[in-house]
Amino acid sequence: MSQQTNDFSKWYIDTIQKADLMDYTPVRGCIAFKPDGYELWEHIQSEMDRRFKETGHRNAYFPMLIPESFFQKEKDHIEGFSPELPWVTEAAGEKLEERLALRPTSETMIGHLYSDWIKSYRDLPVLINQWANVFRWEKKTLPFIRTSEFLWQEGHTAHVDEEDARKETMQMLNIYKEVVENFLAIPVYDGQKTPSERFAGAVDTYSIEAMMKDGKAVQAGTSHYLGTKFAEAFDIKYLNKENKHVHVHTTSWGTSTRLIGSVIMVHGDEQGLVLPPTIAPTQVVLIPVGPWKKNPAIIEKLDEIFAALKAKGIRVRLDDSDQSPGYKFNEWELKGVPARIELGPRDLENNQVLLKMRDESDKQTVDLNSVVEAIEKELKVMQTRLYDKAKAFRDANSHTHIDSLEQLQQHLSDSEKNGTIPGWILAGWCGDDACESNVKEQTKFTTRNIPFNPPTEKHTCINCGKEAKHTVWFGRAY
Ligand code: AMP
Ligand code: ZN
Repeated sequence: MSQQTNDFSKWYIDTIQKADLMDYTPVRGCIAFKPDGYELWEHIQSEMDRRFKETGHRNAYFPMLIPESFFQKEKDHIEGFSPELPWVTEAAGEKLEERLALRPTSETMIGHLYSDWIKSYRDLPVLINQWANVFRWEKKTLPFIRTSEFLWQEGHTAHVDEEDARKETMQMLNIYKEVVENFLAIPVYDGQKTPSERFAGAVDTYSIEAMMKDGKAVQAGTSHYLGTKFAEAFDIKYLNKENKHVHVHTTSWGTSTRLIGSVIMVHGDEQGLVLPPTIAPTQVVLIPVGPWKKNPAIIEKLDEIFAALKAKGIRVRLDDSDQSPGYKFNEWELKGVPARIELGPRDLENNQVLLKMRDESDKQTVDLNSVVEAIEKELKVMQTRLYDKAKAFRDANSHTHIDSLEQLQQHLSDSEKNGTIPGWILAGWCGDDACESNVKEQTKFTTRNIPFNPPTEKHTCINCGKEAKHTVWFGRAY
């Protein structure tokens, strides 16, 4: 296991491989999700899906292949996505009359269909989500974080007016924030993207942004207000109460398997993977220690604990293989399992077990009669502890005192000298694209978002010193 602080990228790759989450394939940028990696996605899916449904959405499915002519209808959309599209040009040995793109996102196909499905104000709102794979032929890829094929959900909704559509855009961003913070224990800043970082074809894009342990940013989810742009491109109109044909206002919103990468990069430690209890495929592992094979009472007791935990809905494994305890401890730590129970002959005599939480160095002794309660409690405590740690880390590396490009450059050279991470900075921006791109060119810091609740307001542009229109998070991003 390489060191997290010295070579974070190597540490990341080591971590996901030792935890057996994925494998590379001969197709560039396309990974295989192994069962322990895929299950992380399943837990994220079920949390998200439940909330989508609670807020009135339903799932549907649309084709993966999209006719080229659909992309031509919305010019910003095609401009943004065309460099990344893989194409199907042939089928059954014959050249197709029209090329078909592997979807990078489904606004166009769905826009085409909504123009048919929506006729009257009575049909609105349309609240649909799709769970699917999408393709974006990325130049630089990194497992989970940025892949050429990824799994995601994409919500596509249509509304009577701007107010209703904007409400939806915010509602979904809030759901993302809630799931990422409470379920994945990752603190995020929510806010608006600058125009240059907007989704191709959106009027406004909002995001949640998370800080990884190397100080880099991950855009963990986005929600777009699309105005009437796609409605105009695809002629999605409805008859309103005044008997007039008007365009609908649409939204779209997405989160992907990138969230898995974020969990690993936020919570992992020098020993590798650390999983929040909520998402861990195995939450508790039971391991017999000492001369346990000669003492059947030990496995009997562990079987009992196993059944009791299972009855409580806790995902538990009993490792009674013939490897040594030390080997097993290491193996399950690499898999990021939150809690480990050890039981040996002496523990049994003392009517106790040892409990070791993945993110803590010491073991606790727990009375055999209250093992289940203790584990339930400790898993909850660990979840909160992981969030608190991640938030303390992020806050310590969110700098609010840097107000000029010179100060930023000084900050970068200081952190390089001291071997610390540069983190993010909160700075003012005048709103000029040129200022934003100069900061990027000089420092590789890009705008993350314009936070809804900045810790403080900035008054001058970091690049030109003129009056700031916005207070913005800047950082290096994945
Ligand atoms: P978008 O449709 O561009 O707003 O993307 C929705 C979300 O998908 C983004 O906020 C990212 O979290 C995620 N995402 C975008 N591109 C990739 C990629 N190449 N691999 C994994 N996740 C991605
Ligand atoms: Zn400026």
